[in-house]
Amino acid sequence: MVDMTGHRDHTMLDISVISAVQELAGASQTRVLTIVSVRGKKFVRSRAIICAGEAARMEDHPDANSVGDPIESFPELNTCIIEQTASATALSHDGRSTLWLPIWIGDKADTCLEIVHNSPYHPDTIQVIGGIVSVYRNFQNLLDYSERDSLTGLLNRKTFDDQLTKMLQASTAEPEAPLPGQPERRQPADENKQWLAVVDVDHFKAVNDKFGHLYGDEVLILIANLMTSSFRSQDRVFRFGGEEFVVLLRSTTLDNAQKIIDRFRTNVESHVFPQVGQVTVSVGFVSISPYESPVNILGRADQALYYAKSHGRNQACHYDQLVSGGMLEAAASNDTAEFF
Ligand code: GH3
Ligand code: MG
Ligand code: MG
Repeated sequence: MVDMTGHRDHTMLDISVISAVQELAGASQTRVLTIVSVRGKKFVRSRAIICAGEAARMEDHPDANSVGDPIESFPELNTCIIEQTASATALSHDGRSTLWLPIWIGDKADTCLEIVHNSPYHPDTIQVIGGIVSVYRNFQNLLDYSERDSLTGLLNRKTFDDQLTKMLQASTAEPEAPLPGQPERRQPADENKQWLAVVDVDHFKAVNDKFGHLYGDEVLILIANLMTSSFRSQDRVFRFGGEEFVVLLRSTTLDNAQKIIDRFRTNVESHVFPQVGQVTVSVGFVSISPYESPVNILGRADQALYYAKSHGRNQACHYDQLVSGGMLEAAASNDTAEFF
């Protein structure tokens, strides 16, 4: 319990909870599963795992675009989610027992613990595990609260800083950099990359001035909803501050990134905002190079956004395209100092 509640990070919390449950239940395997909804269908994906005699670890999924297995491949869990019950069990023909404990927050369960045991559980064990799950749920709620923006429910600025730093560390950990003396590896133009997009509402001050702050806030909430529904489940959407949002798009091509961003932009353009009518957004986006500092990456996306703003708004501009087309001057890179 002390270990579980000492963390300020979802990953470490997951690792702690499966370690604790595995030990207390004498399980042969314990996993944290993520349950995602994509266009009304639910999918299950393993997030963290511990097997008997091994250390707990996060799962790496080589295919970042995969959402996981359809929930129908876990019939007992599927029924449990549909009927919103506290747990489900399945007994395999070799006598192994699997227990699923969804983490219900209201009527939603995005996370579920799965515990595999070599023999059926004693009711006392289930009760103890149930207690740990309750602490886990409460603590996850608290973490969520500190990671999110209270108006829109999107991830906040602090979480963005943490996630971008993590994303950059993860990609520099891969042996991507050319070795000394070897030619730089040219990346094919259509390779999957990570992207950062900065979104700013056009003439938002006018919305506040004309309709008042309450309507302004309502517009921000509706735009946040349009962001959540327009981007993919593997993308991360943040409220950066005021009427500015940031999106991290995971492993996709330039063509796709442009399409996804434009889909969002046109969804906003065609949405009828109550009382206010039409609202538009401008976007600047850039590919994320793992050898660049977060300040530089954001700076470039901001430059592209500024270009979009000063050339008619309601458009998405790609930094590299602007530079190669001579519309923007590349910012001189400075290896020795970082400016804030
Ligand atoms: P531009 O198209 O150049 O972006 O024009 P703009 O009017 O959107 O830009 P500006 O940065 O001048 O205005 C942003 C306004 O956003 C100013 C501020 O009052 C408003 N704002 C910031 N945060 C909030 C908020 O949480 N709620 C509301 N209602 N307004 C906010
Ligand atoms: Mg602004
Ligand atoms: Mg604005």
